[in-house]
Amino acid sequence: MSIVVQKFGGTSVADVERIKRVAGRVAATVRAGHQVVVVVSAMGHTTDELVDLAAAISSRPDPQTMDVLLATGEQVSIALVALALMELGIRARALLGGEAGIRTDGVHQRARVVAVDPEPLNTWLARGVTPVVAGFQGVAPDGTITTLGRGGSDLTAVALAAAVRADACEIYSDVAGIYTADPRIVPRVRKLAVVSYEEMMELSSLGAQVLQGRAVDYARAHGVTIHARSTFEDGPGTLITEQAKEAGAMERGQVVTGVAYDGQVAKICLIGVPDRPGVASRIFSELGRHNINVDMIVQSVDRNQVTDLCFTVQRADLTRALDLAREVASAVGAAGVSADENVAKVSAVGAGMADHPGVAATMFAALAERKINIQMISTSEIKISCLVDAEHGHEAVRAIHEAFGLGE
Ligand code: ASP
Ligand code: MG
Repeated sequence: MSIVVQKFGGTSVADVERIKRVAGRVAATVRAGHQVVVVVSAMGHTTDELVDLAAAISSRPDPQTMDVLLATGEQVSIALVALALMELGIRARALLGGEAGIRTDGVHQRARVVAVDPEPLNTWLARGVTPVVAGFQGVAPDGTITTLGRGGSDLTAVALAAAVRADACEIYSDVAGIYTADPRIVPRVRKLAVVSYEEMMELSSLGAQVLQGRAVDYARAHGVTIHARSTFEDGPGTLITEQAKEAGAMERGQVVTGVAYDGQVAKICLIGVPDRPGVASRIFSELGRHNINVDMIVQSVDRNQVTDLCFTVQRADLTRALDLAREVASAVGAAGVSADENVAKVSAVGAGMADHPGVAATMFAALAERKINIQMISTSEIKISCLVDAEHGHEAVRAIHEAFGLGE
């Protein structure tokens, strides 16, 4: 008997009709003779609504208290999905993340999975019961509830799949798989059959939103193949796996696999920073200590012993990052700090890039042709990212997608 993890995102459980449909799909898999572990997200935009409620009360909400709040969304959906399964004659059991064996560290709102005890799931499966597990949550060493970062239900699915050595880890959403770009931005995208872990990591962290980056990272570390597919239609979906590294790129004959867009970034600049050793270390260690991820970094060339130091963070971290930047700026005697939310990051990603020169030139030329100014650039072996004006973000994605011939 094979074990299948089936994870359903917020859109897939957005209302009662959809919950019944999800239950129908799970029931069909159970009746086909598989053991199924179900993982669900909160219904529709519940998590966003909870975040907004908290924001209306507090501008710097306490992370532990936020986890108590945010974890409720998934608690609602597991109960409803379990009830829907029972209605179909399937024995089901709704489990919170901790009850399903998910142990995390104590970093609230972005906790890491440190261990998964397979015992609870194995016990329920052995009794012929289908566990329905709350995604996005776990339990900290002190017993408090934690959440795994936005989109964290994907990580729950992958971590459980690894723990019970599942034969498949299916992640269902409202899109049919991974595309060469976001179909809402680019009209003629192509669906990819396979994507490597490395490419998917870049695409996720770059704002592709289809799969959580941490989930892909965990899948790579534990050798879990992810099958991304649609709840609403029976297409083949996309496999995220190791072998794709060569096979995928060669099959496509392309150096660039996809173009990602991130509209949730913000830029902070420390202006007129005295040019001496230790300043960068000071600001970035402060941010690191507060668990704020910095992405792109640019330091201007020294003019009269001062430089400008600019970097990007996720927009959600802007207020906290700005507080820290101001503190450090005054401590090191910088002239000032500026913040800009009107930016977007566009990136070309492809495992084939490493041994093909000229990719950056093609990308920059595509942007130049449309008179889109590049504010910052960062690169890795398999991606090139540019920070541009927010108002040109979508156009930039379309230009790059076209320049690399990614459309149908
Ligand atoms: N409900 C959580 C979120 O919206 C987790 C998830 O959907 O994966 O981020
Ligand atoms: Mg999601």
